[in-house]
Amino acid sequence: MNIILIGPPGAGKGTQSKILETKYGLKQLSTGDMLRAEVSAQTELGQQAKAIMDSGKLISDDIIINMIAQRITQPDCAQGVIFDGFPRTVEQAKALDRMLAEKKKPLTAVIHFQVNEDELVGRLNSRIRQAQESGQAVRADDNEATLRQRLAVYREQTAPIIPYYEATGLMKKVDGMAPIEDVTEQIEGFLKSV
Ligand code: AMP
Repeated sequence: MNIILIGPPGAGKGTQSKILETKYGLKQLSTGDMLRAEVSAQTELGQQAKAIMDSGKLISDDIIINMIAQRITQPDCAQGVIFDGFPRTVEQAKALDRMLAEKKKPLTAVIHFQVNEDELVGRLNSRIRQAQESGQAVRADDNEATLRQRLAVYREQTAPIIPYYEATGLMKKVDGMAPIEDVTEQIEGFLKSV
């Protein structure tokens, strides 16, 4: 099973990925997490990526496609993958189609998280407050200005992949503002039918 989760930052893709990973024995591939690991390890890629990530813009398609191409051939991806935060452009979506066709592993489902942007900003601000109160580190791109920039980037560069996947008949819309368990239920109901 290969599943794509599409939705703006803060929509709950990461939370649902973790749940689906356990329930279905899949591997979550989050390009954001992979990039943050590069930043922490201070690799050349990480050093280049940091400023772009902090500004809320997208890393170039070539780098991201290359990163995923290398990752999906590893043994822990053999049971299937949950793509979280990838693809984010039509170019990336087309590249993923090619990679999956080569591996003869078709796409099973595309889950589109629908959200209310103002509520997302509210959620982020309360998450930052809670983290600060409990002395936890706050991600450099976790602030309202960057979130608004990331939402604009999502509308301009990522939203065009929605009609691309709609045309495949594999896409299901879920209400990203619903409670976590309800979102999981909506996704599982859809996965049973594909
Ligand atoms: P995320 O954790 O998925 O919200 O990603 C954090 C940041 O990493 C994004 O704001 C982008 O700068 C970068 N990033 C993650 N995934 C991608 C992708 N598929 N394409 C381009 N940039 C990405």
